[in-house]
Amino acid sequence: SALYQQAILVHNKKPRNFRKLETANHSAEGYNPLCGDQLTVYLHLEDDAVKEVSFEGSGCAISKAAASMMTQAVKGKRKQEAEKLFTEFHGMVTGELDEETTPNDLGHLKIFAGVRDFPVRVKCATLAWHTMHAALNNQELVSTE
Ligand code: ZN
Repeated sequence: SALYQQAILVHNKKPRNFRKLETANHSAEGYNPLCGDQLTVYLHLEDDAVKEVSFEGSGCAISKAAASMMTQAVKGKRKQEAEKLFTEFHGMVTGELDEETTPNDLGHLKIFAGVRDFPVRVKCATLAWHTMHAALNNQELVSTE
């Protein structure tokens, strides 16, 4: 969709929270060998909430835009809420969750729904989410393979 195209462009040009987080107390590295996307997600958790979140790395436009929007979506959320968003996002792009009929908190992340028609791109779109999930759960490395 046009919204999707525009978001990819905007977030690539100016990714949000694109930096190393010095105050991070959780982090993980993610790698998508299929496309070559590589990123690190940093989290500053305090009292079970995501105080700060950032990422750095390199990859295709979709992986970068998805990471940028992931950081916006989970910032300020409780750990449990961030995990729920991960599950919903993953379900949406793999076709397990119909975001139009099942209640969810995806909001404007719904623009990624069309990715489900491009299986190779699903891993690009979910890499940052898998990596965020790994960081939340004290895993250090995640590969989509
Ligand atoms: Zn990619």
